[in-house]
Amino acid sequence: MPDGKTHAIGTGMIASGTVAAGLYFMLPADVVGMIVIGELATLIINPDLDQAEARKGCLAALFWPYGKLIPHRSWLSHFPVVGTFIRVGYIYGLWFLAAYLAKVHFGVLVNVQMLSFWLFAGMALSDTFHAVLDVADSRLKT
Ligand SMILES: [Zn+2]
Repeated sequence: MPDGKTHAIGTGMIASGTVAAGLYFMLPADVVGMIVIGELATLIINPDLDQAEARKGCLAALFWPYGKLIPHRSWLSHFPVVGTFIRVGYIYGLWFLAAYLAKVHFGVLVNVQMLSFWLFAGMALSDTFHAVLDVADSRLKT
């Protein structure tokens, strides 16, 4: 498995390529910005959160059930778009639960907005590159 540093470099390459493509094709800055933010979000919310149960820290605690339910490098966490969708859905599940508890216990109404398509696209693009690096690394070691 490529280490976190290799994945982070890959994410930086994808984000840089997105900016370059955005400038070259004169894409709207808000679209390019959302894609890049989505790509950079995968530095934290990435397919390897399927190992969260083996980690420490706040994010590991949030993703502990996810890590327990999904085996490492499963298609549920690493297959392009599917893994992104499941991780984003998991986060929304936590967010909806927090919003529900805030309403029931404190009477606070929390507005839950849906994720931008372009933000999701950036995450999916970066997650795809993550999966490619994992597969390439596995093939090099065999
Ligand atoms: Zn991985």
